[in-house]
Amino acid sequence: MGDPDLLIVGAGAAGIAAAREARSLGLDVRVLEARGRVGGRAHTVQDLGSPFDLGATWLHAAQSNPLVPLAEARGLELFNHDLVRSGRTWTDGHWATAEELAEYDAAEHAWHEALMLAPDTPGLSLADAAPRGGRWDATLLHWEGPVICGAEPEAMDLADWRATMLNGSNLLPREGCGHLLEVLAEGLPITLDAPVTRLSWGGRRVRAEGPFGAVEAGAAIVTVSTGVLASGAIAFDPPLPVATQEAAHDLPMGLLIKFGLRAAGEDRLDLPAFGGLERRLEPGERAMTWISWPFGRAYLSGFAGGALAWDLSAAGDAATLDHAFSELRDMFGARADRALRRDGAAVASWGRDPWARGAYSYARPGGSAARAALSVPLGGGRLRLAGEACHTSLAATLAGAWYSGAAAAREAAATLGRSPRVTERTGYTGRVPAPSSGG
Ligand SMILES: Cc1cc2nc3c(=O)[nH]c(=O)nc-3n(C[C@H](O)[C@H](O)[C@H](O)COP(=O)(O)OP(=O)(O)OC[C@H]3O[C@@H](n4cnc5c(N)ncnc54)[C@H](O)[C@@H]3O)c2cc1C
Repeated sequence: MGDPDLLIVGAGAAGIAAAREARSLGLDVRVLEARGRVGGRAHTVQDLGSPFDLGATWLHAAQSNPLVPLAEARGLELFNHDLVRSGRTWTDGHWATAEELAEYDAAEHAWHEALMLAPDTPGLSLADAAPRGGRWDATLLHWEGPVICGAEPEAMDLADWRATMLNGSNLLPREGCGHLLEVLAEGLPITLDAPVTRLSWGGRRVRAEGPFGAVEAGAAIVTVSTGVLASGAIAFDPPLPVATQEAAHDLPMGLLIKFGLRAAGEDRLDLPAFGGLERRLEPGERAMTWISWPFGRAYLSGFAGGALAWDLSAAGDAATLDHAFSELRDMFGARADRALRRDGAAVASWGRDPWARGAYSYARPGGSAARAALSVPLGGGRLRLAGEACHTSLAATLAGAWYSGAAAAREAAATLGRSPRVTERTGYTGRVPAPSSGG
C-alpha cells in the first residue's frame, strides 16, 4: 500500500461517502476496513432465498436522503413502503378491532403532541416526559424506544430524540441497502480484512497500524461506531481528548436484532405482503414486532429492540428463535409452527459483532450536545470522527452516516489545502441537500 493523502477507517456508509467525496476533490485515498466486506451495518444476505437486509433496511427521510438519487442513478429500484402499509395489533388475546385501532391512532397523536410540547428541561429522558396511564401509552413508549431507537426510554435524552425524529417517506431498495452500498463502493481503494489497532495522530502526519502493516497520511477520518470507539479496539496515540471521549460515552449503542423466518409451505397466516404486526403492551412488558412477506417473498421478518434485544443477543440465536416462536404461537397458535421454518433462519447479531457492538447510537439524558462534540476536528484537522453518531438530525441512519462522512471529507480536503472551490470543475457543487428537520 502506498501512503495516501487521506486515510479512512471503515467502509460503511460514512467511509464510502468520505472516500467518494475525497476522490472527487482530487485526494488520494485509502480505506481500511476490518471486515471481509464493505457496508458495515448495512449488509444484504441471500440466506432466505431472496435479498434480506440484516441491518439497515429503509432509506428514511427519502426527500432529503442522499442515497435516493444515487440509487436511482444506478438504476436500482426503490419501493415506497408507506404506500402499502397495513398493520395488525394483538391485544388481550385478539386482533384489535377497527374501534380499538382508531383509539390507538388517537392516542398516538396525543402522545406525540405531548412529547413535542414537553419543556426543554436539560437532562429529561424520553420516559420522564412521556404520557402515562393511557391504555396505549406503554405500547407507544416501547415503539419509540426499543423498537425504533434500540434503547430503553429511561436511558434516552428527550431533546436528542426530538432532534432525530424522521420525517418523509421510507423507501426500500428491492435488492437491499447492503447491496446499494456495495454498488456505491465499487472502484474505491478499499483494503478489506484490515483492522486498525493503533492510530497515531500527534505528529505532522497520521499513522494507522494493524495486521496489514502501517499506513501514513496527511489526515484521517475514523468512521467506526461509538461502540467500537468505547471498546478500545483502536488505541489512539495520543488518547482522544476528554471532551471527545465524553461525547462517545454519551452516545452509547442501542440494539435492534433483526431476523427472517422462512415460510414452510403455502400458508401465509392470512397476512398480506408488507403486513406489520405488533402487540399492545402493559408497562414493563416487551415484545417483538414483525413484517410479513416483504415484496411477496416467502419470509417473515422479526425485530427485537432495547433490553430484550441485548438479553437475546447474550443468550444466542437459538434463544432468539425460541422467543420468536413463543410470541408467534400466542398470536397464531400451533399454526405458526406449521407455517414457518425454524431451520435456515437468518439472524443478525449486531450486539455480539466486534466491529459494530450494537445497532446505532442514542444519547443518554443530558447528552444532546454530544453528536456535535463528537464531530469536532482534532489535531488541527488531522483527525476527524464521522458516522451516524455524528449527525445531529439524521443520527442512527444511513443518510446521517453518509452526510457525516462526506462533510468530513470536504473538511479534510480543506485542511490538506484542497478547497472544494478549486475542484468545482470536477463536478462538486458545494451544495449539500438540507437534512430533514427534527420533530
Ligand atoms: C438492525 C439494524 C437496522 C437498521 N435499520 C436502518 C434503516 O432501516 N435505515 C437506516 O437508514 N439505517 C438503519 N440502521 C442504521 C444504519 O445501518 C447505520 O446508521 C449506518 O449503517 C452506520 O454507518 P456508519 O458508516 O456510521 O458505520 P458502520 O456501518 O458501522 O461502518 C463502520 C465500519 O468500520 C469498520 N470498523 C470497525 N472497527 C474497525 C477497525 N478497528 N478498523 C477498520 N475498520 C473498522 C466496520 O466493520 C464498519 O464497516 C440499522 C442498523 C441496524 C443494525
